[in-house]
Amino acid sequence: AQALVELDVLAANMAHMVRYTRTRAAEQSVPAPEVMGVVKADAYGHGLIPTALAALAGGATWLGVAQAREALALRRAGIGPDRARILSWMFSALTSPFEKLIVADVDIAVGSLRDVERVAAAARAVGKTARVHVQIETGFGRNGFTADELDDAIALLKANSSVSGEALLDVVGVMSHLAVADAPESEEAREATDSQIQNFNAMVEKMREAGIRPRIRHLANTAATLTRPEIYFELVRPGIGLYGYEPDRGMGTPEDFGIRPAMTLQAQLGTIKDLPAGHGISYGRTYITEQDTSTADMPVGYADGIHRSASGFNPLGSQRTTHKGGPVAVRLADGSTKVVHIAGRVCMDQSVLDLEGNAAELGIHEGDTVKLFGPGRGAVFGEPTADDWARSADTISYEIFTCLRNRIPRLYF
Ligand code: PLP
Repeated sequence: AQALVELDVLAANMAHMVRYTRTRAAEQSVPAPEVMGVVKADAYGHGLIPTALAALAGGATWLGVAQAREALALRRAGIGPDRARILSWMFSALTSPFEKLIVADVDIAVGSLRDVERVAAAARAVGKTARVHVQIETGFGRNGFTADELDDAIALLKANSSVSGEALLDVVGVMSHLAVADAPESEEAREATDSQIQNFNAMVEKMREAGIRPRIRHLANTAATLTRPEIYFELVRPGIGLYGYEPDRGMGTPEDFGIRPAMTLQAQLGTIKDLPAGHGISYGRTYITEQDTSTADMPVGYADGIHRSASGFNPLGSQRTTHKGGPVAVRLADGSTKVVHIAGRVCMDQSVLDLEGNAAELGIHEGDTVKLFGPGRGAVFGEPTADDWARSADTISYEIFTCLRNRIPRLYF
């Protein structure tokens, strides 16, 4: 199996979001924000370095990662401070090489007093000012200083912003993350987002009054970048939009937002078998053939990152329930495509497709390349997408790509 990644599509998605934010900002008579390409988690499984370069080619001026080692990998690959500002926002006792980040000119997000102390100590050790972004907790319930913790944070930041004339910290930014920006059609979600925005503005104001003046405020993920121009501030942080998916299927299709999925996952069929009606397929016999049919072995399984929850069950099987397995487009003799599904449990290295017909008559052969997902209008139109897989596996497209293991090579075009 292979994951084909179209670099020009990644660049075009980024260019689209850059243009889009400029247009929407101009409509509001506010300055256009800079745009960060969020490339954490190996660029949502698309490959860190190629994706980062494509995002920059598309007009991103910032790159965002969770882990320090991803930020350092970007710099080591030659993406210098002249080409991109890089922000890293997640640290633990084991993954916090703050000295290296400061030397590499990486911006650091701090969300706890301990982080502030450790970054200040690292800045002192390397003799260089660290650029920090203050993470504030506005309603997500995860990272950052709460309103109650803000006074202590401000005091510590101020104490380290000017130490014997030499600043250890330059507080350049302030950030938070939205919990439900991806459900703009829901009143409750809109209210939750409004409340996060109010909290954000109030906490930034408090910092300013105390003499901490972060120049770069950022809050918007893809969903807010596409639907909430009033919170662009100085920087937006889209991730999933870069890869060509909307954050929530309820928001519409990628085309509605002028973006296109950049990854296609394909595989080559293994052996094909003609089976009689009543034949069990895979572990647990959760799927029993309903008629004489052909099956095809597809050499990808959960060790490749194919979700076991995308297994297919039918009522004749041991679970007595229906669950549509992951969709796969196969090409027929006449050149048209047909969408078939995983039958039975996804195994470690392979899965079985019920071709729902006779393979020889359909013109399906061993070695045929089949498509699990790619750009397109969805499985009902014969073009399965990562959203269709997400539906089958009861998850989100984000998890479909980030789970793909490295034994599936990424091929770049
Ligand atoms: N900003 C932060 C802090 C994030 O953790 C993420 C991803 O989860 C993003 C931005 C990008 O979000 P999305 O992929 O929904 O655009």
